[in-house]
Amino acid sequence: MPADIECTACKLAFSVGTYHYHSFDDGYIGSTLLVCRKTGRQHRLEIPHPDRSLAFALESMSSVLIAPKRLAGTMIMLPDDDWARRRIISTRVLADIACDCCSELGTLIDAANPGMRCPNCGEILPRPVAEWMT
Ligand SMILES: [Zn+2]
Ligand SMILES: [Zn+2]
Repeated sequence: MPADIECTACKLAFSVGTYHYHSFDDGYIGSTLLVCRKTGRQHRLEIPHPDRSLAFALESMSSVLIAPKRLAGTMIMLPDDDWARRRIISTRVLADIACDCCSELGTLIDAANPGMRCPNCGEILPRPVAEWMT
């Protein structure tokens, strides 16, 4: 159940958490949305169907999201055409995955703890603007 978070101060936005696709046609069953806690860049990890011989795939956006569009005024829209640099990775252990933007290990997170500071401006982030199910 992903959570959408937008910084009150600088409007940096991101979504974190796992959701499942409705169609598994391309062999992937869902994504875990991730954010780099150093830069705020949105990433996602695609999860392959266990019966298929596919690997995990990591994608990221080309820049951070600032004041993105909202869906129905509540959910943050992650623009489809902004995903880039798809690469195959061998693990879903976040500590072992290098961030696309800063190349560091262990900066990608799939949940935002209360009191987490905005990677962009350092303010304490508010509660999620939306938490969604698929
Ligand atoms: Zn901020
Ligand atoms: Zn990073």
